[in-house]
Amino acid sequence: MTDLTKLTLAQARDGLRAKDFTAPELTEAYLAAIDAADALNAYVHKTPEIARQQAEFAQTRIRAGMSPDLCGVPLGIKDLFCTNGVPSQAASRILDGFKPPYDSTVTEQLHKQGAVMLGKLNMDEFAMGSSNETSCYGNAVNPWRRGNEATALTPGGSSGGSAAAVAADLCAAATGTDTGGSIRQPAAFTGIVGIKPTYGRVSRWGIIAFASSLDQAGPMTKDVRDAAIMLRAMSGHDPKDSTSADLPVPDFEAMLTGDIRGKVIGLPREYRMDGMPGEIEALWHRGAEMLRDAGAEIRDISLPHTKYALPAYYVIAPAEASSNLARYDGVRFGRRAKLSQGDGITDMYEKTRAEGFGPEVQRRVMVGTYVLSAGFYDAYYNRARKVRALIKRDFDLAFADGIDAILTPATPSSAFGLGEMANADPVQMYLNDVFTVTVNLAGLPGVSVPAGLDTKGLPLGLQLIGRPWDEGDLLNVAYSLERAAGFMAKPAKWW
Ligand code: GLN
Repeated sequence: MTDLTKLTLAQARDGLRAKDFTAPELTEAYLAAIDAADALNAYVHKTPEIARQQAEFAQTRIRAGMSPDLCGVPLGIKDLFCTNGVPSQAASRILDGFKPPYDSTVTEQLHKQGAVMLGKLNMDEFAMGSSNETSCYGNAVNPWRRGNEATALTPGGSSGGSAAAVAADLCAAATGTDTGGSIRQPAAFTGIVGIKPTYGRVSRWGIIAFASSLDQAGPMTKDVRDAAIMLRAMSGHDPKDSTSADLPVPDFEAMLTGDIRGKVIGLPREYRMDGMPGEIEALWHRGAEMLRDAGAEIRDISLPHTKYALPAYYVIAPAEASSNLARYDGVRFGRRAKLSQGDGITDMYEKTRAEGFGPEVQRRVMVGTYVLSAGFYDAYYNRARKVRALIKRDFDLAFADGIDAILTPATPSSAFGLGEMANADPVQMYLNDVFTVTVNLAGLPGVSVPAGLDTKGLPLGLQLIGRPWDEGDLLNVAYSLERAAGFMAKPAKWW
């Protein structure tokens, strides 16, 4: 039965409907694979009882011939999606013991469509990080290795558990969230597909917030078709999220024709960074060639404010985080520190936050509080907001000039070793997001597609950025790139 875990989401759906196998059989195959993969530390809360119940129920719907796409399909859920009665900690100690009495809108939609939840997936604490090393559960591990080396590599972050689980066939697909690259960077590091939708496409309600004006949930999948199927299932207007868009959700899968003739693809010259590895540059060129061969026109474009994106992001994201994380005070959620005789309420807040938040989260709260403080608000936060508007305008102008999608590398390197960055300046880690944060600042959809292996045998991804609300078109370009790149490699099983 283990071969069932190798199916894509689309193949699993079709096999279920054709009665080639049942939802309980498919679920058992995944549960066994998960139990054999503890070395990857991808799942932090397994939910086999829920999975089995959901699979049985899904099977009755399939038998009745009334099964939506995801009915009976086993998924992994990133730990920051609230799931009714199941630990939802955003990989933070401060949420120890927190079991929400409700579901996020996204997980609720997935459950209604009959999806099976296998468990909660590892991530960086409150989604802050690029290597999954800030998690209170310890890091997830990338199933890929450099050739025959045994060095453990990062699956990327913050959705590292989601990426590892999809790449190692521990779920048919997973949910992720992306504030500055947390879907696309781990997707690139593990040879899978990840799409961050247009801001407002997917409801943020019930997803533990990091930076609310940047956060978007999206699918992490084995291929582009699966991303299209799962994105449709996650999307839609939600009155509980005031930033959710009241727009129809197209059938993204039906838009995958692979025909991109006449499309205009932009290559932004500012993404040609100093010190970028030759392999990344070469892959980028090859990607452009593939799209040209498929009938697209390739055009050099300029996004002049790109170089200010990282500094602007690392002002805005911590500012919003410091405000969002103020609610973790030992009173309402999760953990409260042990107090001594005579401690007052301020001691309780301080002790709880000091022991509940890890070092990276504390750093962000401090940076955020600083840039929002009365004396520095204009110099940092307001300045960053203006830069953000300029970055968005760069993209608006490119699209107004007839550009349909923009091709860039997804990451400045392949997966690095766990612990390798431990003594580096934190800014070193922030550089991972150099190609991805602009997309969040501008609210645009962006997808990472696996496009090749580097000389160490590790996957590399290319990013495509699309017009707002045009995820269908964007996925179609990604589909064409995927077919041309023909990336079929899988990590050799060592776990
Ligand atoms: N790596 C970035 C950060 O640490 C992005 C994280 C994310 O997208 N959630 O903020």
